[in-house]
Amino acid sequence: MNKCVFLDRDGVLNVERGDYTFLPEHFHIIDGVPEALLALKNAGFMLVVVTNQAGISKGVYTRAQMHACHAILMEKTAHLIDKIYYSSYHPVFSESLGRKPGTLMIEKAIARFHIDPAASWLVGDRCRDIECGQKMHLTSILIGEMESEKCVPDYMAKSLLEATRRVILK
Ligand SMILES: [Mg+2]
Repeated sequence: MNKCVFLDRDGVLNVERGDYTFLPEHFHIIDGVPEALLALKNAGFMLVVVTNQAGISKGVYTRAQMHACHAILMEKTAHLIDKIYYSSYHPVFSESLGRKPGTLMIEKAIARFHIDPAASWLVGDRCRDIECGQKMHLTSILIGEMESEKCVPDYMAKSLLEATRRVILK
């Protein structure tokens, strides 16, 4: 079986703007992310992004705009990411088991790529990320301090690079 690091997108890989990020000119990779992803890959982890993209169902932006941002993400991180799952749903419009803290995106990845949850991690910057990972028995790391009082991750880190050191040392 494979081991994997599941990654939230905004606030973990690219800069969180406090609003939907869908324009390429607003999509900025956080310093240290390419190095972190390379280190995780070299340590034998698959890299799977799981991202809520409710702005699509809200009509704020299109799938094509999101895919354009993901093309930048892949290019600027040397195509190390194995798969990007996104949930375009929002509870106002339709229920979804995929939207975090729902687990369907991670369940799909586990089934498709034969991932062992016990050997795998989730890195996110919101408690809905952490709760999603905990439901799937992944070891969790919360980036930043934005919601540090609202959930109990296994670890905290200032950045993906710092989180990566934790993952590799464990
Ligand atoms: Mg985020």
